[in-house]
Amino acid sequence: MQDLVANKVHDEARQGEAFAPFTNDENQYNKRFYIESYGCQMNFSDSEIVASILQNEGFGATRNYEEADLVLLNTCSIREKAEQTVRKRLTEFRKIKDAKPGLLVGVLGCMAERLKSKFLEEEKLVDLVVGPDAYRTLPVLIEEAETGQKSVNVLLSREETYADISPVRLDSNGVTAFISIMRGCNNMCSFCVVPFTRGRERSRDVYSIIAEAQNLFDRGYKEVTLLGQNVDSYYWIDEANDEIVTFGKLLEKVALVSPELRVRFSTSHPKDITDEVLFTMAKYDNICNYIHLPLQSGSTRVLQLMNRTYTREWYIAKVKRIREIIPDCGISSDIIAGFCTETEDDHADTLSMMQSSAYDMSYMFFYSERPGTLAARRYKDDVPEEVKKRRLKEIVELQNRLSYQSNKQDVGKTFKVLIEGNSKKSDADWMGRNSQNKVIVFPKENYNYKKGDYAFVRVNDFTQATLIGEAVKE
Ligand code: SAM
Ligand code: SF4
Repeated sequence: MQDLVANKVHDEARQGEAFAPFTNDENQYNKRFYIESYGCQMNFSDSEIVASILQNEGFGATRNYEEADLVLLNTCSIREKAEQTVRKRLTEFRKIKDAKPGLLVGVLGCMAERLKSKFLEEEKLVDLVVGPDAYRTLPVLIEEAETGQKSVNVLLSREETYADISPVRLDSNGVTAFISIMRGCNNMCSFCVVPFTRGRERSRDVYSIIAEAQNLFDRGYKEVTLLGQNVDSYYWIDEANDEIVTFGKLLEKVALVSPELRVRFSTSHPKDITDEVLFTMAKYDNICNYIHLPLQSGSTRVLQLMNRTYTREWYIAKVKRIREIIPDCGISSDIIAGFCTETEDDHADTLSMMQSSAYDMSYMFFYSERPGTLAARRYKDDVPEEVKKRRLKEIVELQNRLSYQSNKQDVGKTFKVLIEGNSKKSDADWMGRNSQNKVIVFPKENYNYKKGDYAFVRVNDFTQATLIGEAVKE
């Protein structure tokens, strides 16, 4: 079941991805670092900041951990399974450390923050433990660790946004990139560990965001995704111009970088997404018509226990509003099966909400109690594991049907597609995405497109996860 679900989560396909941005880097480095990232996009984005900090310290990246002087794991605590994956991975590094005694092993990110110096006791081979707000101190911590001391910095900050650090991009496709616009979260959903591991919410300087988007565009990137745990609560005061920059305003400013630069964002909290944002999306063609709007549960009673601060009816009205203002908007969701006290009726409410929202795609999980969260302190994790799994299976099956329906409705339609590269299955086909974030593959024949171009593609066929089409004239 877990594998089935893992396959549904596109982020999961990148879990443990090694990061080597400098394949064509001519600089000479006398030390090498190896970094693997787990969890959400924020972590992958943070690894690019870490890479930038290390590069300035004379570390070059390597994809081969056996030649590294420093091995880093950027970790996730969101579910117990995510932590188990990292623990297991650490045991594999033990062998390499035995063979290469000077090798330093560091744990970054949410697990570092959650477990702090306890990590050093539990995992003896770890030399460095660094929380998400402490990456600037990595050079000092590495120096300390090189002398044989164990180094820890897990201080959370109310200000740190790494605004001035220019991330070193992962050498993925050169077309799409992530821009972190805020850090932390103030929401305190009762199941969630993020407010404890990533601290208070803070928004990044708007000018540094625009500069990063402009720089990416100048370097040939064609799509940016603005990242935050709750992007709709972005709020920055531009004292120089006496302007309050809301998320709607930020979105507009990024869209104005160039009509050729696509803009996406993630994640929206249903309670915070405003008409201002929706109208801005409708106004600019280059802001993609796609919203990730996590539901979590379709039962108002469970939503209340989750501290999501909206009801079933509120969510239904929000989806209606989105479809009124942006009729062809793609909507996806996150859903948790088997939260504390969830009954069969609550579960049925979730299924009916999925149906009424007609999600194109969902990330689906069963509830995993996280130590220290409000739910762990207040409620009993009382839904038996087999019930959680059965409910999750029903949720996944329903989503499969909804995705099938959604893709079927696209047959015969023509979409503007941004080409991200070759299709995984064949070099004779391009792979790209439409505005609604759906993957489309189409043959290269007849047209002279290259990676990063926009093409118009008519959909002829589909699978559950992919639209299949052919390029047509504009
Ligand atoms: N900030 C985003 C939001 O509010 O939607 C995403 C937060 S989290 C990284 C991504 C998803 O993980 C959540 O939306 C939730 O569905 C899921 N999640 C968080 N804590 C969980 C837990 N304890 N058990 C199962 N799933 C969880
Ligand atoms: Fe976690 Fe809720 Fe914040 Fe998302 S909004 S990160 S689920 S506390």
